[in-house]
Amino acid sequence: MPAITEHAPRRAVFLDRDGVLNRRPPLHQYVTSPGRLRLLPNVAVALSGLRAPGYALVVVTNQQGVARGVMTREDLDAVHAELRRRLRLRGADVDATYACTHLADAGCACRKPRPGLLIQAARELRLSLADSVMIGDSPEDLEAGRAAGCRTVIYISRGDNRSTHADFTCRGLVQAARWLRDRHGMIQDRERAGR
Ligand SMILES: [Mg+2]
Ligand SMILES: [Zn+2]
Repeated sequence: MPAITEHAPRRAVFLDRDGVLNRRPPLHQYVTSPGRLRLLPNVAVALSGLRAPGYALVVVTNQQGVARGVMTREDLDAVHAELRRRLRLRGADVDATYACTHLADAGCACRKPRPGLLIQAARELRLSLADSVMIGDSPEDLEAGRAAGCRTVIYISRGDNRSTHADFTCRGLVQAARWLRDRHGMIQDRERAGR
């Protein structure tokens, strides 16, 4: 096996926030303070499962509530600090959080479906986008993942609908983590068999 240096790019799982890690607020409402954050069940377990095979965990989230004046950047930072605090209490964590705080019609490069947040994270954290995964509950998430060059995109469905653009559709992060773990195992088996 080739030596893996400390500086080799890591692969990552990019995670949308609302509807993936925490309960989605109603349309045009936002998680404006730490007290309004509701983690979804078993999210910490799922994140620990994703970290085990060595994925960096990076939250990428559209939060135009900041540009709309519904909350400040400090409010958003406080929500993300609370998110990480609660994950740590359950033995999990993420490596970083990236947010687009611009208006939907601002034409910025970072609001999903554009890939700007993922590309910025890859540059700053030395991630290999091609080996990375995007998990989200909206078509914009999947599109951003593909546009960034992620080989794998996973759709968390809010109902029975499947995404034809996703490699896997499921109901939550636990299932997504299990699918990735199984797939990772299969790839390792194939590599072993080829040697
Ligand atoms: Mg979402
Ligand atoms: Zn933006």
